[in-house]
Amino acid sequence: MSKKEVRTRLAPSPTGDPHVGTAYQALFGYVFAKSRNGKFILRIEDTDKERSSETSEKAILDSIKWLGLQWDEGPDVGGEYGPYRQSERLEIYHEHLDILLKKGHAYPCFCTKERLAEVRKERQKEGLRGYDRHCRDIPPEEATKRIEAGEPFIVRMKVPTEGTCVFEDLLRGTIEIDWEHIDDQVILKADGFPTYHLAVVVDDHLMKISHIIRGEEWINSVPKHILLYEYFDWELPVFCHIPLLRNKDKSKLSKRKNPTSVDYYKKIGILPEALLNFLGMLGWHLSDEKEKFTLEDMIQNFKLGDINLGGPVFDVDKLHWLNGKYIREDYTPEQFAQLLVAWGLNVDSFCEIADLCIGRMTSLSDWGEMTSHFFSDRVLYNSRDDLLFSGKDDTESAEYFQMIIWEMERLESFNRENIREMFETIASKTDLKFKHLLLPCYVAISGEKVSTPLFESMEILGSDMSRMRLRYAIEELGGLGKKKLKKLEKRYSALF
Ligand code: GLU
Repeated sequence: MSKKEVRTRLAPSPTGDPHVGTAYQALFGYVFAKSRNGKFILRIEDTDKERSSETSEKAILDSIKWLGLQWDEGPDVGGEYGPYRQSERLEIYHEHLDILLKKGHAYPCFCTKERLAEVRKERQKEGLRGYDRHCRDIPPEEATKRIEAGEPFIVRMKVPTEGTCVFEDLLRGTIEIDWEHIDDQVILKADGFPTYHLAVVVDDHLMKISHIIRGEEWINSVPKHILLYEYFDWELPVFCHIPLLRNKDKSKLSKRKNPTSVDYYKKIGILPEALLNFLGMLGWHLSDEKEKFTLEDMIQNFKLGDINLGGPVFDVDKLHWLNGKYIREDYTPEQFAQLLVAWGLNVDSFCEIADLCIGRMTSLSDWGEMTSHFFSDRVLYNSRDDLLFSGKDDTESAEYFQMIIWEMERLESFNRENIREMFETIASKTDLKFKHLLLPCYVAISGEKVSTPLFESMEILGSDMSRMRLRYAIEELGGLGKKKLKKLEKRYSALF
């Protein structure tokens, strides 16, 4: 009997920057598939129409490619089991939905948003969660009539109300979750799109995924998925939930504490091979404990069961240490010069910033000083006092920077117009004038009181880099402790 082909997949939702956690999952999915002569598949999960964007999809694909984790099948390269973008598979989901409805494993739900909100409130009072299954017992003929009469509906899957779902996770062994904790999950939304739960099961089956390697935040969804496999009478894949990346304080890695975008690390000059090695090191080690290893080393030596379950800490200092080792040990001066050019010291990126500098230059050698902040991670300040907002002390100034960071997080598109508007809003809601609000920001971003135009510079640096610069400024001003942050958060949410 021939052995089943190993097929793993990365299934990102294109709803933001390429997250290092996505890269971490991609690495283990890729390495496992390659260690078993299998295939690595990339599928775009864009069932959330509101939040998905082409820009995000492109950024995610680019970042995984930059890391060298080339997929065998995917939206851009095609493959036998496509399309590989969920928004292009709607017909397939509807066919499967019909099967569930016909077999009585799913039902239309006509509850309005208002009713659902009311039910949620009432149930919360009784310590209960989820939907009250109000529409579960509507006779199918009546439901059909209501649908034909044009009443809006969604579809939910039927979930047992008692008993326990028992399943195996390759890393965690047997897991038991009581059905009473699982809701009658929505599987078709009012906009005609399936939810993640239906789409993921249908796609993983049809794309012949043998091992589902993904973050541990999905463990609680497995019972619903298993139920769908049973309803369709399909063979289960192997589940392998890998631990989530953590901040140093062990909280879940979030961009509030650390930059989480692969693009940020690329921009500050982390090498792809170092980032891969670092991500690999977070979940796995070579038997001789050697810290520096290549993708090929991993493929040669990897066993899926070896991923360790301790919360992997994304320690940026360690990443820099490892990156330094790569730069020092693997590059001759010529190769290093080429590396710099490929990274950003090239005509394309010079063109991007030339416009901001030409008008202020008297000799070509001004270039270095005038533009160094575009090619740095941290900038040097002439005087830390320049970071103080007019009439504010260290802590108050740090608080202003923090509020700006929070506002930046809310910007959907990080362009100069939005950035300007953001500063105008902050100025209108606080006691600082627009001009006074900008001055210390120039210093935080460029190190200088007078520098390239602020909004344009921030746009070029990008949201992650800009926020990090403000974080460095806060650090320089003595930081904000947990208590101060909490208080500030309250004030901030009342203001904005
Ligand atoms: N689209 C999901 C996410 O981005 C994927 C979850 C999964 O791998 O099943 O988190």
